[in-house]
Amino acid sequence: MHLTARDPETILAEVFGHAVFRGQQGDVVRHVTDGGDAVVLFPTGAGKSLCYQVPALCRPGVAIIISPLIALMRDQVEALKQAGVPAAMLNSSLNADEARIVRDDLREDRLKLLYVAPERLVTAGFQQMLQDAHISLFAIDEAHCVSQWGHDFRPEYRELSGIAANFPGVPRMALTATADPATRADIIDRLGLQNATVFASSFDRPNISYTMVQRQKGREQLLDFLSTRRGESGIVYCLSRKKVEEAATWLNGQGVRALPYHAGMDAGARSRNQDAFIKEDGVVMTATVAFGMGIDKPDVRFVAHLDMPGSIEAYYQETGRAGRDGDPAAAWMCYAMSDVVLRRRMIDDGAAPEEVKRVERSKLNALLNICETTTCRRQAILSWFGEAHPGNCGNCDNCLTPADTWDATDAVIKAMSAIYRTGERFGMMHVVDVLTGKATEKVERLGHDKLAV
Ligand code: ADP
Ligand code: ZN
Repeated sequence: MHLTARDPETILAEVFGHAVFRGQQGDVVRHVTDGGDAVVLFPTGAGKSLCYQVPALCRPGVAIIISPLIALMRDQVEALKQAGVPAAMLNSSLNADEARIVRDDLREDRLKLLYVAPERLVTAGFQQMLQDAHISLFAIDEAHCVSQWGHDFRPEYRELSGIAANFPGVPRMALTATADPATRADIIDRLGLQNATVFASSFDRPNISYTMVQRQKGREQLLDFLSTRRGESGIVYCLSRKKVEEAATWLNGQGVRALPYHAGMDAGARSRNQDAFIKEDGVVMTATVAFGMGIDKPDVRFVAHLDMPGSIEAYYQETGRAGRDGDPAAAWMCYAMSDVVLRRRMIDDGAAPEEVKRVERSKLNALLNICETTTCRRQAILSWFGEAHPGNCGNCDNCLTPADTWDATDAVIKAMSAIYRTGERFGMMHVVDVLTGKATEKVERLGHDKLAV
């Protein structure tokens, strides 16, 4: 491999084996290689890694990649090493000797890419080492972690704001697949990227179809969904470890090869199941949200949710693991008002400060809105991410089979929703007044005439 080659196209072909840049990748790469700062907002699977890996090899010095995901670091470092690129990582999974070797390599200018966990980066010792090193660029991956508006806030990301002042003139880039307008503004503000060029590609994943159904008998509905998908690889997300185990057992009983994955299993069993999912065909992984971060399997044909996730961001990130190869894939969810009540209770009982809880509640309500909408789901989801879509996508349940508004289940959903949204503390008469839009004194006083129901 030619580490002397400074031209992005040559690096792309010779090191990564790709003929052309995808979408705006080439623009980002050239901008950063020339020393510019960048905010990169691409959906999952768009190829964000190359946006920093290629400039890292085009520019002199070592690139510092900040990532909270140890599994992703390990995969990327392994892949880079196999391609002949001197890359390493520093995080809690290394023992003292391994960490010392990495630090020596950094000191001796032997690395082109160094992946670092954020809590490592901000330590005084490491900052000093960086001051002595020759740094080509900083890439902050999963940049939404800096924002309380993001679904995955990590306080140590806040410390990264110091990079701009401590390393003037070194290009900085922030990358994320999750950026509603509030999170986006927060990333730019918190990381001091006001002068960075923003590269945003459409978040639409046209090859993924969206279906959301009201849960009656969740497993039967899932089996129905799977009936046309025998032999395909997919993920079934459940809220609890117990449900993950039960769903796997039940699916196997129904002739579907399913394996469980959750943080309560021992590491050996977990990685065995993960390997089987990645290497074998037609394995269904029943999992908690612990599964999926940094897993690069292009032919996941479906992602199903047996329980409602906590936000549109979480839903979109999880369903985004389907169809990375661009072939048709399905996102299917069954939800119930009881999920909302449960999630709401989890938020209320959680340890987060009140302002964070408020954000979480509004995110939950926003997802409920999308579950309940009778118009194009793709349009509703993209609108949440600040992106206009004309609707009628032709690839979501509402576009394919428009809701029959006289169906009684719909009325029941609305009634349940009205009960929930009025705070589950009013009698039937008041809820009926809210639903029928009657302008009673009580309805107006409580602002219940402003509810979407
Ligand atoms: P993201 O981080 O945006 O989710 P990745 O960087 O993991 O996406 O890339 C997703 C997949 O797309 C990977 O398998 C990667 O090899 C592939 N890929 C990225 N860029 C290109 C390209 N220019 N040509 C072909 N494949 C690409
Ligand atoms: Zn649609």
